[in-house]
Amino acid sequence: MTDNALRELYQEVILDHSRHPRHYGALDHASHKAEGYNPLCGDKVTVYLKLDADGRVGDIAFEGKGCAISQASASMMTDMLKGRTAEEAEKLMQGFLHLVKGEDASDLPEDDRERLEVMGGISEFPMRVKCATLAWHTYKNAVEEGAT
Ligand code: ZN
Repeated sequence: MTDNALRELYQEVILDHSRHPRHYGALDHASHKAEGYNPLCGDKVTVYLKLDADGRVGDIAFEGKGCAISQASASMMTDMLKGRTAEEAEKLMQGFLHLVKGEDASDLPEDDRERLEVMGGISEFPMRVKCATLAWHTYKNAVEEGAT
């Protein structure tokens, strides 16, 4: 692990999200909810959703604690998923999973890719991939099995 790679991993955007998380806190009247846990690192995250009748993410919030990457990733996710249709959200999640594994994510719309690329450096640290993907898997669980 080089110093440069480390610096890149913890760059400004990640630190900013982990220090000032967006959409943090429980959501009143959530329609869906799920809890996620990453035993490798001890990260915890709870994702709250308010899905519209057509599946669009009307509102989203999270609570959690853990390493900077897990919390920054959850914060960034809530920022990006709010207002998306189910189809768009699925595409975003798949693109993100490709990015953090160092795989091709060219099917993502350009502005989404640019925002998510900050997490792409994680592909060099396989131990941290689960930190970065925890929130997204928890979101998916909330949609599929988390109706409240
Ligand atoms: Zn972690």
